[in-house]
Amino acid sequence: MEVFNSPQQFLRHFSGKSYSIGMVPTMGALHEGHLSLIEKALIENDKVLVTIFVNPTQFDNNIDLKNYPNKLEEDIYKISQFGKNISVFIPNENDIYGDKIISKQYDLGNLDRVMEGKIRKGHFQGVATVLEYFFKTFLPSKAYFGEKDYQQLLIVNHLSKSLNISTKIIGCPIVRTTDGLAMSSRNILLNSEERRIAPKVYEGLKLAKKLASTEKYKKVKIEVRNFFKNLSLIRLEYFTATDPFTLVEFNPNEKIKYGRGFIAASLGKIRLIDNINMS
Ligand code: AMP
Repeated sequence: MEVFNSPQQFLRHFSGKSYSIGMVPTMGALHEGHLSLIEKALIENDKVLVTIFVNPTQFDNNIDLKNYPNKLEEDIYKISQFGKNISVFIPNENDIYGDKIISKQYDLGNLDRVMEGKIRKGHFQGVATVLEYFFKTFLPSKAYFGEKDYQQLLIVNHLSKSLNISTKIIGCPIVRTTDGLAMSSRNILLNSEERRIAPKVYEGLKLAKKLASTEKYKKVKIEVRNFFKNLSLIRLEYFTATDPFTLVEFNPNEKIKYGRGFIAASLGKIRLIDNINMS
């Protein structure tokens, strides 16, 4: 395993070699969800490049940025266990932004106008800025993203097409703990009581899916809201069910035949987001 701190180091190392590169962009504090992306990337490419970068422009909240877990040593150890075909790129902010840490502005096809885009202003512009840099600098054959951040996955697909980037975007299934909680780096910020109740988010999604097989969307929404009303620690921010490609919400009087259900909720110091295939 090699660790690179500058893009030049990486490019020098691989110059003149025609390896296929699979990229796995992360913000570190790696868990099994991240590792599942790395495993898939190693199967499908000659070399894998994991990036670890806590991108300031995708945080709309300074406290969240300050609290974001930093586990760099453990991360490097975990990645080293994958052997010699893997590299880590740990850039600093200036490599990517120069001296002005601001996002570029992209047309993200309205996919950034709903759900997380509505709540976390500028988040997806920040994500797009750093990904454009990674794609254009390292020219990966494939890049791996989790369905955990389903909206992000769609936005990255849109971005790569609109920028004419040849990197193939690969979506990977959500990895959960045995009690159903979608793994996330921020979960370690939950106290034990919060951690115990956190799997309710996935339970809410499963309830929605079950109800959707018989009820109209309107009724599904009401029941999901009621489910969370009874849980004092969790505050539901939204439950929505949408077309899986456009993220356009279903009509209240429709039955959900296919599509994706999404929940965002706040619990303790963090927000939890999760989603489910409704069909
Ligand atoms: P992050 O470090 O949170 O920015 O995540 C880096 C990548 O890992 C993103 O593509 C995420 O969607 C993906 N990821 C995070 N958590 C999970 C999970 N529980 N299952 C699958 N992929 C995940």
